[in-house]
Amino acid sequence: MLETPPAPAPPAAGFAQRVGHALEALPEGADAARVWRALGAHGVQEELYATGAPTGPVPDPGRLAALLTAVDARGDNGVTLSVLVQTASALPLLATGTAAPALAAYRQAVAGAASVALAATDAQAPGSDLTALGTEYTVDGGELVLRGGKRWVTGACAADHLLVLARHRPGRHFTNFTWVLVPADAAGVSVRPADSELLTASGTGHVDLDAVRLPTDHLVGRPGRAMASFARHMATERLAGAQWAVALTRRVLIETRRRLTGRSVDGQPLWHHPAVRQDFASCLVRVAQLRALLDTLTPRIAGERDLAAAGLLKAAVGQTVDAVLGRCAQLQGADGLARRGAAHVRAEAAVFGLGGGATELMLAQLADRADAVLEELAPCR
Ligand SMILES: Cc1cc2nc3c(=O)[nH]c(=O)nc-3n(C[C@H](O)[C@H](O)[C@H](O)COP(=O)(O)OP(=O)(O)OC[C@H]3O[C@@H](n4cnc5c(N)ncnc54)[C@H](O)[C@@H]3O)c2cc1C
Repeated sequence: MLETPPAPAPPAAGFAQRVGHALEALPEGADAARVWRALGAHGVQEELYATGAPTGPVPDPGRLAALLTAVDARGDNGVTLSVLVQTASALPLLATGTAAPALAAYRQAVAGAASVALAATDAQAPGSDLTALGTEYTVDGGELVLRGGKRWVTGACAADHLLVLARHRPGRHFTNFTWVLVPADAAGVSVRPADSELLTASGTGHVDLDAVRLPTDHLVGRPGRAMASFARHMATERLAGAQWAVALTRRVLIETRRRLTGRSVDGQPLWHHPAVRQDFASCLVRVAQLRALLDTLTPRIAGERDLAAAGLLKAAVGQTVDAVLGRCAQLQGADGLARRGAAHVRAEAAVFGLGGGATELMLAQLADRADAVLEELAPCR
């Protein structure tokens, strides 16, 4: 773990400026679709991807961090979630397709003219047991026929395209799965919003696929390759999650400190209370640890698609975000319960411990490789 290449250089100032220009013209409360369009119109998604990688376009980690930090600063977690899933996993996965529909959808999405939702979590299986999924396609009269359902899909309610993980034969073997590009307006597709007051701007919803007929060129990537490509690109999504987690916890800590400084108890600002200071400092330690782990593992995740490193990072994100935001909410007192206040932010941040894999699943996989992790923790030189 210690022998890693240096962290990537910070993003070119031009990219951060481009993101700034795209976002500054937007009104407060602009929804995810509007933010996505504005980013595309300013060439942000186009510039985000390093092309020429053998696995297709992958986001440059420095640029991805700059983008997510700028979007997070707008203060709408639903919008940030939507941008994160599309840039970090949906578009790179879509780019594994070489047939005309996938190429066209990718070009539209990179330009911000269309949005893509990644529909893996299945109606018939727990998200933690993905290879048990029930959504399947058959080939009938030269057409694909897709049946099943997906749930908790970020952006499903506003998506133009759904990238659906489906099986083409029974059984759990990882070669039994293939991506299918489904136009959201195809006959047999219906989407209903998730019944939640959290992350509403993300357009998260559930998808029913009732005998959806599509030409066979709507398969994305080689049949049987879906799980392998998913695993590679999930590593990037987990890296992106950690980048967003650092930006979000830092932002909420800054706001919490501002409140503690301005609020006096018995003539003393709360910020000067020793117990409060220690509590706050403990949060700083946790976020600094997460940031250090992120910086250490970024080259392995971005460069080598190291899924084990990404799982370790995701487990740390799940544990850190809830602990820090929970303390921030408490330190903001009753005001933390205000509309869209710190308690609401903390509740929304539960997605860090679930989306793309529950924290416990990450921990179980980490325990499976305990020997290798302990070896990497050999004495510092
Ligand atoms: C806001 C939001 C957005 C999402 N966006 C998307 C998306 O865009 N695309 C998509 O495909 N999916 C998406 N998801 C779904 C997400 O990936 C799943 O929720 C996740 O994989 C967990 O699956 P599950 O909810 O079915 O929980 P389950 O698998 O049913 O697990 C429930 C709980 O059981 C425990 N558990 C599970 N496995 C273990 C284990 N091995 N050891 C110990 N405890 C365990 C954990 O506490 C876990 O939280 C989203 C979810 C949310 C909340």
